[in-house]
Amino acid sequence: MSLTTITVKMSQFWSKLVHELVPYTPGEQPQIDGLIKLNTNENPYGPSPKVLAAIAAANSDTLRKYPDPNASHLKQALAADSGLDINQVFVGNSSDEVLAHVFKGLLKQDAPLLFPDLTYSFYPVYCKLFEIDSVQVPLDENFEIDIDAYDQECGGIIFANPNAPTGIALPLSKIRLLARRHPNRVLVIDEAYVDFARESAVSLISEFDNILVTQTFSKSRSLAGLRVGMAYGQAHLIEALERVKNSFHPYALDSLALAGATASLQDNNYFTQCIERINQTRAKTISSLEAIGFNVLPSQANFILARHQTQAASELFTFLRSNKIIVRHFAHPRINNFLRISIGSDDEMQTLVDVLSERCRSTS
Ligand SMILES: *Cc1c(COP(=O)(O)O)cnc(C)c1O
Repeated sequence: MSLTTITVKMSQFWSKLVHELVPYTPGEQPQIDGLIKLNTNENPYGPSPKVLAAIAAANSDTLRKYPDPNASHLKQALAADSGLDINQVFVGNSSDEVLAHVFKGLLKQDAPLLFPDLTYSFYPVYCKLFEIDSVQVPLDENFEIDIDAYDQECGGIIFANPNAPTGIALPLSKIRLLARRHPNRVLVIDEAYVDFARESAVSLISEFDNILVTQTFSKSRSLAGLRVGMAYGQAHLIEALERVKNSFHPYALDSLALAGATASLQDNNYFTQCIERINQTRAKTISSLEAIGFNVLPSQANFILARHQTQAASELFTFLRSNKIIVRHFAHPRINNFLRISIGSDDEMQTLVDVLSERCRSTS
């Protein structure tokens, strides 16, 4: 029997909590030759050669030692990069892990956590795991966050900005208003895609003691495999995360990850060039798709959410797959007629458009 066909029955030995968990489903990572993989918002360009050299140098006899539990060099580099103090910076083994500490350390309160009905689907998973009540606040009819809808009793607010899977960014002016309207609650802005966007809420941190911003090396810095994420906020918020982390996994970042992530910050030239290319490809892809009958939401991320005017998304998804192109299709009723398409290289996106043009011409 192959591994994938083994099903495990629920067990009497499980905790009550485990019985109730609904785990996150990551985008698939199939090992198929020649596949065009546009389903998990990975960067089509590899990491900077300097990052690879730093990881190779760290791959040495020194691996016998534990890494620096405070990740001081990396935090210093992030502080310099963001214009903050080192005690306003937190790092973790992926931004998913940083978010786990945020839920546990800052968002678990008596009143329910608020987040959009359409946003990063990990948030409800963490709510179950950490037993946090939540209320999902609908995006408006344009798939935008309506900050007035958040005028309700809550224990905190979290959303991705630019949001996922819409790609739409909420302007800083609105984030400011939201933070002012909830002065006693933490507002968490998940900026996994912010490097592809116009503005970051990190610039609001000196002004607000209740804004925490999370980011990741996975998307814009081409390091999804290295698992490094960070959070920025005033020192009292960061201290909560340090307390949780040091009660769970003090050596969260391994030596190779520390070396690679630190080197990435020292090669911002490479990084900004990749971003520019991806943003250009995004603009080009949007106009090509619009020309063959798609509506595309205005994205500031390295992915787009697109709906064809006549073709069903589920059928396009299967059709693309049979052409060795994988994208993401969500079952959520508000977007089940959309496809989320990561921005790959120019060649990959041209292939996508060619394949779709054929289909959309022949059947519409
Ligand atoms: C990809 C993503 C993350 C997770 O990033 P990792 O650092 O790879 O764990 C967090 N939030 C959002 C919105 C994402 O899209």
